[in-house]
Amino acid sequence: MRPSLLDPLFAPATTLPGVGPKLGKLLDKLLGDETQPARVVDLLFHLPTGAIDRRPSASIADAPIGDIATFSARVTEHRPAPPGKAKAPYRVIVEDETGDVTLVFFHADVRHLLQTLPVGEFRIISGKLELWDGMRQMVHPDRIMDARAFASLPSIEPVYGLTEGIGPRVMTRIAAAAAEKCPDLAEWQDRSFLHKSGFASFAEAIRALHHPPDLRAVEGDTIARRRIAYDELLASQIALALVRRQQKKAAGRVTIGDGRMLEAIEAALPFSLTNGQRQAVADIHLDMEKPERMLRLLQGDVGSGKTVVALMAMAAAAEAGRQSVLMAPTEILARQHAERLAPLAEAAGLKLALLTGREKGASRRQVLERLASGEIAIVVGTHALFQEGVVFHDLALAVVDEQHRFGVHQRLMLGSKGEAVDILVMTATPIPRTLALTWFGDMDVSVLAEKPAGRKPISTRAISLERYDEVVGAVGRAVEAGAQVYWVCPLVQESDTLDVAAAQERFEELGGHFGARVGLLHGQMPGRDKDAAMAAFVAGETRILVSTTVIEVGVDVPNASVMVIEHAERFGLAQLHQLRGRIGRGSAASTCLLLYKGPLGPVAEARLTIMRETEDGFRIAEEDLRLRGEGEVLGTRQSGSPDWRVARPEVDGDLLAAARDDARLLIERDPHLADERGEAVRTLLYLFERDVAIRLLRAG
Ligand code: ADP
Ligand code: MG
Repeated sequence: MRPSLLDPLFAPATTLPGVGPKLGKLLDKLLGDETQPARVVDLLFHLPTGAIDRRPSASIADAPIGDIATFSARVTEHRPAPPGKAKAPYRVIVEDETGDVTLVFFHADVRHLLQTLPVGEFRIISGKLELWDGMRQMVHPDRIMDARAFASLPSIEPVYGLTEGIGPRVMTRIAAAAAEKCPDLAEWQDRSFLHKSGFASFAEAIRALHHPPDLRAVEGDTIARRRIAYDELLASQIALALVRRQQKKAAGRVTIGDGRMLEAIEAALPFSLTNGQRQAVADIHLDMEKPERMLRLLQGDVGSGKTVVALMAMAAAAEAGRQSVLMAPTEILARQHAERLAPLAEAAGLKLALLTGREKGASRRQVLERLASGEIAIVVGTHALFQEGVVFHDLALAVVDEQHRFGVHQRLMLGSKGEAVDILVMTATPIPRTLALTWFGDMDVSVLAEKPAGRKPISTRAISLERYDEVVGAVGRAVEAGAQVYWVCPLVQESDTLDVAAAQERFEELGGHFGARVGLLHGQMPGRDKDAAMAAFVAGETRILVSTTVIEVGVDVPNASVMVIEHAERFGLAQLHQLRGRIGRGSAASTCLLLYKGPLGPVAEARLTIMRETEDGFRIAEEDLRLRGEGEVLGTRQSGSPDWRVARPEVDGDLLAAARDDARLLIERDPHLADERGEAVRTLLYLFERDVAIRLLRAG
């Protein structure tokens, strides 16, 4: 149970003074999600992105030029626009004994100005002060206040991310009210670390951020934010450590093969394994031979050849007379895996079956029976397969492909299924080291660093959509020359339906040029049609496959050597990289055309430039992180990074390492979180909503 001390923080934002239903709705939009309204805690973690210094200067002469200035002055004159020049601004002159400032208003509400700036009165004025023709002027001051109003406003004003309908002043007020609600909590951080870092308590740090006592409290990267970031990282590391401990506790079993199937598979492969693949296979076999459970991540860029490594792992289990499951994130990918692996499995005398939501009736029953009897050694499916309580005769190994598509929660579930099952997760998302740590905790990692030999670099070009006709011409020539083409249609917001409409339209348009050689594939097609579309493309019957991003993950058609990505500016970097990874797999030189609609914003421009410059997934991932760190949100859906509220992977790497060590030590010393600090840590887990981990504690 969540400590009742935290209840006020998990109440809806509308419990704050001055937040009615209307404001509540706007906050929901800004901070809530589909499942819940914005809560007080969401406001706590909605930290200011900066601050404005509104401390007054001693006089107009002292007020900084080119910056936000605040000063007290007497209103001396109103200068309306000259008659007949309605577009000219309305001016108001204010002065003190050291100088004057012209306040400039466009489209002025004159009556309002006469009220707020009465001639002869003193006002405190704040805004950006500039020099214009040697004269001080201020266009549309941010604040015009009398002494009383000035006294009631903070002089260091936090700046927040806003949404339409919530202005800065309202946001400042609400956030301060939320910070007020933050109770003093027992300290969960390690005393000496806290001391060494110079951190204040959680509540003090929150208040310092939302109600900065001085500019230092908000300028640059503040110690208060770092404190909260550390808390967030610590919560996630402790949760991961608990999960990991629970998984290890279910002791594993020793699985040792005799190598005969592995030999047969290697002999049947049309290529020889890379050194990286050999090393990964060796790592995995060693893990499987140990009496502990395996929890290993196989990380390898798109096209690096992870699937065959998975097969070698599963084959070892089969040699020991035990079963494996390979889970794919999509139906298409599950089918493709089953088809690709079938001949190799057959060569080794391995029984392999496909089981997804679409296998129904008698054939499904038959697969289930043969799984229960142990006749089938490898079953390939979507993750739904695992949830439906399939009974195995003797399951030894679960391989999860394209792990980034599965949420942490699914992974937790997987860990709690079946005892003693070894787990291998594979991801093509080249996760920068800092993120790998947070995402996977202390999972063991194997990396496929090199790609199979003989791959040619992909030539990538960015082309304006205005040149669509030329692109169609080039695609036509490529098709005539025997190439196959993926044509990826834009991501229209986060809506599947709109994606589909765009793909449909493009399919018809291209059909006008190329007739039956164009195929269509999208997520809303019935499963059979998807299979047929994919099969026709694999067989080369269709030469151009128009699709939505359903092909993003895993699809492998080596003859496809051209990719067109329409509205490339709408995709995140990670996703562009995944998509492009579909080509460059065969012996032909490949081309990727990024069609964009200008004008490009700086971030979109940077993304396209990086795509042109490199195919190195690690570099792309680092750049992605950097760009998104600069406030870009598009692409987070595909990023595979957990959603941090406060921590920033690109600057808090040092904190992450410390949090990880701290979490390990803590769990070692107090595995049940029973002592005083343990109690405080439970509060921390609830505060950052990592309380799944607490359920594990209870389970044993
Ligand atoms: P990913 O790591 O993206 O899942 P795949 O396992 O789909 O990559 O492999 C990509 C392609 O590379 C497949 O066509 C596969 O047959 C091929 N491949 C895998 N290993 C090698 C190798 N050692 N040499 C040559 N081709 C390979
Ligand atoms: Mg793959």
